[in-house]
Amino acid sequence: MAPSGSGSVTRGCKRVLHWIPVLFISVIVAWSYYAYVVQLCIESVENLGEKIVYLLAYHLFFIMFAWAYWQTIFTKPMHPLKEFHLSYSDKELLERADRGESQQEILKRIVKDLPIYTRTMSGAIRFCDRCILVKPDRCHHCSVCDKCILKMDHHCPWVNNCVGFSNYKYFMLFLAYSLLYCLFITATDLQYFIKFWLSSLPDTQAKFHIMFLFFAASMFSVSLAALFAYHCWLVCKNRSTLEAVRAPAFRHGPDKNGFSLGISKNFRQVFGDEKKYWPVPLFSSLGDGCSFPTCLVNQDPEQPPTPPSQSPPKKSGGEAQQQFPAKPLRESQSHLINSGESWRESKAPADGERTGERTAAAAGDPPTGTGHYGACRT
Ligand SMILES: [Zn+2]
Ligand SMILES: [Zn+2]
Repeated sequence: MAPSGSGSVTRGCKRVLHWIPVLFISVIVAWSYYAYVVQLCIESVENLGEKIVYLLAYHLFFIMFAWAYWQTIFTKPMHPLKEFHLSYSDKELLERADRGESQQEILKRIVKDLPIYTRTMSGAIRFCDRCILVKPDRCHHCSVCDKCILKMDHHCPWVNNCVGFSNYKYFMLFLAYSLLYCLFITATDLQYFIKFWLSSLPDTQAKFHIMFLFFAASMFSVSLAALFAYHCWLVCKNRSTLEAVRAPAFRHGPDKNGFSLGISKNFRQVFGDEKKYWPVPLFSSLGDGCSFPTCLVNQDPEQPPTPPSQSPPKKSGGEAQQQFPAKPLRESQSHLINSGESWRESKAPADGERTGERTAAAAGDPPTGTGHYGACRT
């Protein structure tokens, strides 16, 4: 059985090769640490106060950046849970059925009790024949991971991981902190860069490091700023990178704003309700990754409308990620859709502190009874 042996060797080689971009980033970061801490702060900065401030601020950015990067790389992507997988009998039934119509009939029966609202472009149930499952909304099969990934955004070679529901917040923080890290280095390195350039400082080994550090940090700043701005826009619109390329299709057709609930709610879906967790690379995203509140839910004649009142929302935590409530869509919908607060809706967010505050409805008190569709579109 030579093919299976050579196949596993090829897979092993591919797995090693996929780590090269991560290694490349790690080497650059390790060098930047040496260049900034040793060559700039210790060797070149003469003022003690300046030295201390630079070192403290630098280490703060460095730790947050490394933490977010670590979390993005090593947080396993979440896969659809059991109820989306076909049972053995359904699988056999599907295999025996003719392609097309009759397979779709079987799939329609299977998805009847599942919170699925999106379809393929041709209106068919989204089915993955590699994982043998019905794809939850926003879930896509990653050809690199060879698995279906919940709320897949993209497969990122720089973190050698799929960016999706489980680590999208970490990915955003990784972009934010790496941008801050590069901007901080560029800003503090600038005056020494100019001094070396004008040859007003001695020609030492530090010169090479400080000059190259400035070039590297400023170039990374530009590309990171563009990528971060793009992902901020995606968060505000509640779209994944894949959905920005191709709008998700609902029963009435493709709708690029199908999952958008307004900027505030879209932001909280990724970063959570509690402000203190927003800048920390710990899991605080809302929902279960298998179902997402959509303003279009009541337009779907095949799905029951969301009940007006539900129990308080489940606290989303790392340990609770694998739990899957019986009707997850309704729970997350009632939480996000019934919560009246929204940045777009709030009249006077004068001090910026009011933004993100939870209303009584969001905190679990009886909702105000706003129509779902209306609540989404205001
Ligand atoms: Zn799949
Ligand atoms: Zn992947």
